[in-house]
Amino acid sequence: MRKLLLSLVAVTTMFLLSSHKTDEGMFPLSELKNIKLKKAGLKMKPIALYNPNGVSLIDAIVRVGGCTGSFVSNDGLLVTNHHCAFGFVQAISTVQNNFIKNGFLAKTRMEESPAKGLVCKITSSYADVSAQVLMGTQSTNDPAERIKIIAGNIKTVSDSENKNNPGLLCEISEMFTGRTYVLFRYKLLKDVRLVYVPARSIGEYGGERDNWVWPRHSGDFAFLRAYVAPDGSAAEYNENNIPFKPAKYLKVNVKGVNDNDFVFVLGYPGRTYRNQPAAFYKYHEEYMLKYVSDLYDWQINKMEELGQESDSLQIKYSGKIKSLANTTKNFKGKLQGFRRVGLTAKKVEEETQMQNFINANPGLKSQYGNVIPEINKLYEEIIKFAPRNLFYDYLYNATPTLQFAAAVNNYKQVYDEIINPEDKTRFLKNQIPKLKTTFHRLYGQMDPSLEKPCLLKMLKDATAFDPANEVVSVTAFYKQYPGSALRQEHIDELYSKTKLNDVKLMLKLLSDSSDAIFNLQDGLIDFAAGFNTEINRYDEIDRIREGKLSSLLAGYTDAKSAFKQKQFIPDANATLRFTYGRVRGYYPNDAEWNNPFTTLKGVIEKEDGKDYELLQVIKDLYAMKDYGILIHPDLNELPVNFLYNLDTTGGNSGSPVLDAWGNLVGINFDRAYTATINDYAWNESYSRSVAVDIRYVLWVLQKVAKAQHVLDEMGVKL
Ligand code: GLU
Repeated sequence: MRKLLLSLVAVTTMFLLSSHKTDEGMFPLSELKNIKLKKAGLKMKPIALYNPNGVSLIDAIVRVGGCTGSFVSNDGLLVTNHHCAFGFVQAISTVQNNFIKNGFLAKTRMEESPAKGLVCKITSSYADVSAQVLMGTQSTNDPAERIKIIAGNIKTVSDSENKNNPGLLCEISEMFTGRTYVLFRYKLLKDVRLVYVPARSIGEYGGERDNWVWPRHSGDFAFLRAYVAPDGSAAEYNENNIPFKPAKYLKVNVKGVNDNDFVFVLGYPGRTYRNQPAAFYKYHEEYMLKYVSDLYDWQINKMEELGQESDSLQIKYSGKIKSLANTTKNFKGKLQGFRRVGLTAKKVEEETQMQNFINANPGLKSQYGNVIPEINKLYEEIIKFAPRNLFYDYLYNATPTLQFAAAVNNYKQVYDEIINPEDKTRFLKNQIPKLKTTFHRLYGQMDPSLEKPCLLKMLKDATAFDPANEVVSVTAFYKQYPGSALRQEHIDELYSKTKLNDVKLMLKLLSDSSDAIFNLQDGLIDFAAGFNTEINRYDEIDRIREGKLSSLLAGYTDAKSAFKQKQFIPDANATLRFTYGRVRGYYPNDAEWNNPFTTLKGVIEKEDGKDYELLQVIKDLYAMKDYGILIHPDLNELPVNFLYNLDTTGGNSGSPVLDAWGNLVGINFDRAYTATINDYAWNESYSRSVAVDIRYVLWVLQKVAKAQHVLDEMGVKL
């Protein structure tokens, strides 16, 4: 009877939960059937949103490199963010034709320029393959072995799927660590071309200063077009390729949305950590986020300092500064969120209650009683060795020449261990081309004038680690200079002993499949050898720990769903997700109300000729106030960006924001500063994402770019 009562309670609780908006909102397609979409505000039929057996809205959604985009015409035209297209525009920009600064517009299809290296993906179907992936794991208690079995099964299943589905890319994604695996089949598009990218002063208005900030006034959008071979198959760029005909494309709602309207987003959010245990939160808050943001701040300062020496250095460092600044500001936002919400303490409290719940039930106790304590034990170790491990994790990133030295040393070590001459020859034939690719990738980043001070700083930091975190090769290096602290000249001396950034010599040594590169006497390779030995040793320990955590986290998820009486939404993992909510303002800080719309008036007000540079044409157009039907009726202005309480993260860049009928009303591109913490915990009070209003997109196309052909192609009449 008691059992029956309990399960009745469970069923009722589950029902109650499913009829309300949950707090974790990045729903995989498989979860859509469990959301009361009509009640939430959706006006279109759910089957038109997602139909596994036919065409639906999700067929218009595209993964664009690491971002998202959506088709807006029958001829493969797709819209994404300016910051997602940035690198491809940079690649075709020259001093004479500065498309970054002035923008890019193809007036005809012939003028469309290839976005070299960009690959797009469309989700075509999916299937739960957890049983196949976990097959055989029950028979081992060895954590490293378990991980190996899982990796082996993933390879076997995806290889066979790829073989059976020519033309598609089949990938398996881990939805819950060590527990749930889903196979996704993707259609690939490999010939993608630039159609329209606004001038940087529109697409990135406010630059770094406004990044992760609301109020925002940025036209962060761009148009691309996908092409395929004449027979419809995916093909690399070829002038005979034809525009891709998507199964579905989005209709634009020229009237946009208003305050409090229902909106939803479909896209490929990258990574969230909500299903991780409290110890993971502690590690991130107290170690990882702090370490990385401090290190990046230091590197940014150094690059700014060096940049003062010349304009060319300033240009050279601008891209790297931008990318590090994007991360460090995000991490500081997260740290603020941790503090304000008291997140780690809340998580610990929740886990204490969960442990009590487990302990109160003998069945659960025998199965999961040790899960949280075991996880905590592993994290104690992770935290104990955090300084040393973080040092290793970020060392090579800051020192590309040393990174290449380490790569050469790693290959050399394997090569030296091979005895059979034939095997040696085969190794060289297969691996030297890979090493050459690594060189090409790193060569562009090698920059001793920046690397040397970075290395000095990191080595100095390492000499101050507690004894448990001692980096042996740093101590050995340091001992060469008795009685003195490490100084720049010591690092200069080290770099004077390397020829690894001599491109001519490297290309010669790597030109054929000989062992010439392994015979090179090089001080930096010898120096990297010490790090490699240590890293390889610690990697082995990490692998075992990862194996243990993988099976513990599977148990943790099971125990947590018993405790919470509900199924969870898996953390974001770059697979297709749905999130919904409302256009809504909020209080980011005490007494500070933020409206959900910004307008062209604000763009004009911000202009200062420095961080906010403005094209004359925008000022002229503003003076005329000629917005036609694009005007926001309540604000009596042209809307530029808007804010909504949806659940998004990196990777959602470029995702379409859709109204209740599934029409395009905005392009998602960022989050407010207070929302950076939502990778760990979403909350209506502080989670707000930012989109470019479709009315601003259309206005820029019509009035600034004079791209009537793009508007016509989308079927937009203004
Ligand atoms: N603007 C973000 C970035 O550059 C992407 C969107 C988000 O994280 O919300 O990483």
